[in-house]
Amino acid sequence: MQLLAESSSKKSYRIVIEGVVQGVGFRPFVFQLAKEYGLCGYVTNSGSGVVVAVEGTPEHIDSFLVMLQQKKPPLARIDKIEKESTSPLNLENFSIVDSLKSTVSTMLLADMSLCNDCLEEMQDKENRRYNYPFINCTNCGPRYSIIKNLPYDRKMSSMDSFAMCEKCQEEYHNPNDRRYHAQPISCYECGPSLKYVTLSGEEEHDQKKALEKIATLIKAGEVVAIKGVGGFHIVCDATNSEAVRSLRENKHRPTKPLAVMFKSLQAIKKVASMSKKEETLILSKERPITIVKKREHTTLSHLIAPNIDRIGVFLPYTPLHVLLLKKVKVPLVATSANLSGEPIIVDEKEIFQKMPFVVEHLLTYDREIVNACDDSVVQESKHHTITLRMARGYAPFSLYYKQKTAKKILAFGANQKVTIALAFENNILLSPHIGDIDSISSSEYFQKTLETLQRVYKFEPDIVVCDKHPKYETSRFARAYVDEHAGVELVELQHHYAHALSCMAEYSLDEDVLAFCFDGTGYGDDGKLWGGEVFVANTKKYERVYHFKELALLGGEVAIKEPRRVGLSMLFASFSLETILQMDSPLVNAFKESEIRTLYSMYERGINSPQSSSVGRLFDGVYALSGFTQSLGYEGESGLILESLSEKSKSKAIFKYFLQEGVVEYAPMIAEILEEPSKEKIAKKFMNTLVHMILTIAEKYPELPLVLSGGVFQNRVLVSMLTQKLREKKRAYYIPSSVAINDGGIALGQAYFAFKNSKG
Ligand SMILES: [Zn+2]
Ligand SMILES: [Zn+2]
Repeated sequence: MQLLAESSSKKSYRIVIEGVVQGVGFRPFVFQLAKEYGLCGYVTNSGSGVVVAVEGTPEHIDSFLVMLQQKKPPLARIDKIEKESTSPLNLENFSIVDSLKSTVSTMLLADMSLCNDCLEEMQDKENRRYNYPFINCTNCGPRYSIIKNLPYDRKMSSMDSFAMCEKCQEEYHNPNDRRYHAQPISCYECGPSLKYVTLSGEEEHDQKKALEKIATLIKAGEVVAIKGVGGFHIVCDATNSEAVRSLRENKHRPTKPLAVMFKSLQAIKKVASMSKKEETLILSKERPITIVKKREHTTLSHLIAPNIDRIGVFLPYTPLHVLLLKKVKVPLVATSANLSGEPIIVDEKEIFQKMPFVVEHLLTYDREIVNACDDSVVQESKHHTITLRMARGYAPFSLYYKQKTAKKILAFGANQKVTIALAFENNILLSPHIGDIDSISSSEYFQKTLETLQRVYKFEPDIVVCDKHPKYETSRFARAYVDEHAGVELVELQHHYAHALSCMAEYSLDEDVLAFCFDGTGYGDDGKLWGGEVFVANTKKYERVYHFKELALLGGEVAIKEPRRVGLSMLFASFSLETILQMDSPLVNAFKESEIRTLYSMYERGINSPQSSSVGRLFDGVYALSGFTQSLGYEGESGLILESLSEKSKSKAIFKYFLQEGVVEYAPMIAEILEEPSKEKIAKKFMNTLVHMILTIAEKYPELPLVLSGGVFQNRVLVSMLTQKLREKKRAYYIPSSVAINDGGIALGQAYFAFKNSKG
């Protein structure tokens, strides 16, 4: 009688959990939770996620389900839980069942920084992994960078060449251990080891000595290379200007800011002032490079971030970094090892082949980097985190949608900051940052990433999406792919519409929006170079309701590197040649008279002077008009310098402009800028004007939520001022936050378009 009552009060369920639930310690977590509530059954991986069969009292099962969400492992993400009753299981305990052979995990996971538990262990003299440079557990360590194929398993990773020792085996197979099924698990006895190598072929395999050697060299002012998670860093003492100068000269990187790694948040506080939000970002488990405000007088070399008052900082994210920083006791410049425009280097031989003038010494190890992955870069604006580069820690990144697509979609991105997106079933997956596709090696890297993603997901697309630009390398790849694969549909999407869609994808938007897409240049529907666009858009279509007045880019590509050409072109649009030649301004003085005459005739006849409505180029023009006439050291430099300057002015004034028949006409601004002696004031008034323009246009469409997207919105001051005003006006708006706001987000927008428009 008793027995009968008990069994009838028990319920049995099959629970399917979807999301990021594989390779993150989810099964042992479920196992322990089930034991806690005295449930019977089992947990296993399946193609669609994790499947749990449970049996117990309804109260216990309810609590189990609540705790499943509340206490989930740090790297897990639950998108969906489905529960259905089943017939009794008749099991006596709870177990973890090995996954079926056919299982393919739905998601590739990002590399994760060293967790606090592992940090504690490596600092504990009694621990068998004391000072071990490759310590990791289920909650931390490499993933994407070592994966060859899915399901994520040691055999499918570059850890396959390291056979686990007995002790590691034990931990690996014990569901109560933090390292249960931690694929890169290893120790001194069985794992990868450190090695010091020189250009001349000298090697040191003793870990202690190798570390000692590299630290001594850094302290002596040498520039060295160190293998990180997804590639090599070029490293030097950040307080030594000679070392930084040598790095810059040899890497041909004159002014682009360099990221600096510090041993602790306290150490960062000495050189930067940060908000609580910025501190949280720096300390987050993703450990991104975070751009923060530089203090004025610090021990750091002034060459780290010349002409701007911002600095990219980050904390050590591998055990090796921790050991190194402890040894050198100074902050370290740690910049990706690559030649300008090329992908990050993952192979030690390549370092010496490609950069023999930059480094002669490197610290490396024998675990292969299968997939390269750069550092992520983020910054805080007043109300939002803005992602500038989505890579280590964040990507591969997946978004889950309620709607399902019956098609498989592959999106190729644009030309700069390229990423690749895959859409299937309820998901869109975005690759880490690949880079600018303008060299042979970056094209190869793009192809390699594409092949990896396709192989891992056994992905044969039905639809391929690319940028509308006829000459982008990625568009060529896309067309070639479609030519070679019968039945695959090609979609070519306008660049700035893809920017709007990228933001809409992040927030699952479907309705009409008013999208401000301010960017560098992208190919427009009229064959001109767009980049200052206002669209009324939804996921099906867009209408260009406003755009900035086009300016001529004198010399085409050259003008993108030489803002003075853009400034001169703006003068041509407003003044006669004779008036310009008589002007006494730094901009006019930056040219010979004969040069101005030649450029004017180019301008007049429209030779090699493409028309562009880009706000990015307008920044260049304003920068030049305010007196900066040198060429840019890196893309976006003019914007960063104007941003820094604008913060020094309190002006609330705006420049004159007007809106006419869908065109933002800023010509009156040009004469005003020439008359304004303060660069700070010019910068601030220009930002104020942009905010004013956006708000004025927004008022014409009061019913639509705003979308803000494109590279120009990397500008923290602009975004802070604008979003503050929008909040005061209680106006709904969206701005990309998790996804890169620049061209790094284009692939997501492209995939989202096809996702929303593909019929089952
Ligand atoms: Zn750990
Ligand atoms: Zn071991």
